[in-house]
Amino acid sequence: MHSNNLTDSQFPPGTLYVVATPIGNLDDITLRALACLKIVDCIAAEDTRHSRSLLQHYGIATPLLAVHEHNEREAATGLIARLQAGERIALITDAGTPAISDPGARLVDAVRSAGLPVIPLPGACAAIAALSVSGLLGSSFHFEGFLPGKTGARQERLEQLALLPSQVVLYEAPHRIVDTLHELAQAFGDSRQILIARELTKRFEQTVRLPLAQACAWIEASPDHQRGEFVLVLAAAEALMPDALSAEAARLMDLLLPELPPKRAAAIAAAATGSNKKALYDYGLQAKAKP
Ligand code: SAM
Repeated sequence: MHSNNLTDSQFPPGTLYVVATPIGNLDDITLRALACLKIVDCIAAEDTRHSRSLLQHYGIATPLLAVHEHNEREAATGLIARLQAGERIALITDAGTPAISDPGARLVDAVRSAGLPVIPLPGACAAIAALSVSGLLGSSFHFEGFLPGKTGARQERLEQLALLPSQVVLYEAPHRIVDTLHELAQAFGDSRQILIARELTKRFEQTVRLPLAQACAWIEASPDHQRGEFVLVLAAAEALMPDALSAEAARLMDLLLPELPPKRAAAIAAAATGSNKKALYDYGLQAKAKP
């Protein structure tokens, strides 16, 4: 166990450090993460072989211990004992931020329940990287990660997600991307905007934003478009997002709603402004529901 005053103040002992690692480009790791991975007594890694090459790249010789989906609970007991003895332990996964569609939450829960400190070292996350370049407007997003694999559960979930008044962030694997885009077009409608972020931070990185109908055509246009890792960001359901209405239409609705039921108000505002009647109606329902 390393112990001196400077190290202790930067990286207190007896602590679990949850460390983000790159999602492709090895340079995407923070200086603090490198210092932490060097100083800890042990690194709990999802796949030790995969992580060894990252550590070798940075000349880090800290011992690795396999902690993955299948042994997380058992491994926690041993790691908690080591933390209680004053060791520092880092948790990393194959790519990005642990516990984000990755193992980690169970270990963190066990460590917290044992009353021990957990400190995050933030960094790369595919979802956040994709959101940052989507340019899709709206103040909130829903992180879904991977959709359910079974057809029924998948369809049901897609129908629920299509109604959310937030952007929806999905992770998808290359062998499913074509089918998924078709399913999304069906559930969310051909005109909903989607950002497809492929191979972020890597050599063949590509981001395109287009309506879902065109996204289906784009993915089928070239086998190259179907390769690699994907994040999908869908625009928020327009009907539920007042931002989607023009200021004029929203103002007219605000004037009509105290006098008329939402349906009638929406019909008049749609005729007067050309805005979508359903979007206006939903705006009306939301306005009436406000305390
Ligand atoms: N914990 C990771 C994070 O913070 O983003 C996610 C791990 S999850 C097991 C892996 C999925 O994340 C991939 O299937 C893909 O959907 C997405 N992903 C990871 N790296 C990516 C990249 N460089 N470009 C696009 N998507 C990526």
